[in-house]
Amino acid sequence: MSTPRVGVLALQGDVREHVAKFAALDVDAVAIRRPEELGSVDGIVIPGGESTTISKLLGIFELLDPLRKAIGAGLPAYGSCAGMILLADRIIDGTEDQQTIGGIDMTVRRNAFGRQVDSFESDIDWADGAALHAVFIRAPWVEDAGRKVEVLGRSDGKIVAVRQQSLLATAFHPELSDDLRVHRLFVEMLAQA
Ligand code: GLN
Repeated sequence: MSTPRVGVLALQGDVREHVAKFAALDVDAVAIRRPEELGSVDGIVIPGGESTTISKLLGIFELLDPLRKAIGAGLPAYGSCAGMILLADRIIDGTEDQQTIGGIDMTVRRNAFGRQVDSFESDIDWADGAALHAVFIRAPWVEDAGRKVEVLGRSDGKIVAVRQQSLLATAFHPELSDDLRVHRLFVEMLAQA
């Protein structure tokens, strides 16, 4: 693949911020709202926002099953915050009817940090050994993860970034900070896929 094309799910949330990060890496990124558009991208980003709202809109826009199928068939995906919740196979503290796309063998607790504090910024331990400045907004954390899940980042011991093969998820919002490492990692994953 020479130049990958990334789709950013554009139902709700910080879509433009993700598009801008890929632009900074010279990667083409486009907003996606229709099932047909999934075939034209090499990977999909599920942005931060509100997972219950995105979940409802996925049903209304008839995107839930197409996304599950595409990701199940190997389409790389990256979810930040609400997007992490949506890529989790299991969630705690979701609303009663809340569905996820799933894909990553993990249990994610919604608003996990929020019970202590709504939003905060913190330097977290990142996989490459260098600290990463992370923005958390009513963030979830990963309560438990299956054997295939690689932990990439922790904050105060809590798992806040994971990778399972071609799926990546962070509890924080790299689209809202200056560090490009998370987006660069996803671009590398697209090249490997
Ligand atoms: N708490 C939100 C949710 O449940 C996620 C917040 C965010 O994406 N910043 O979806």
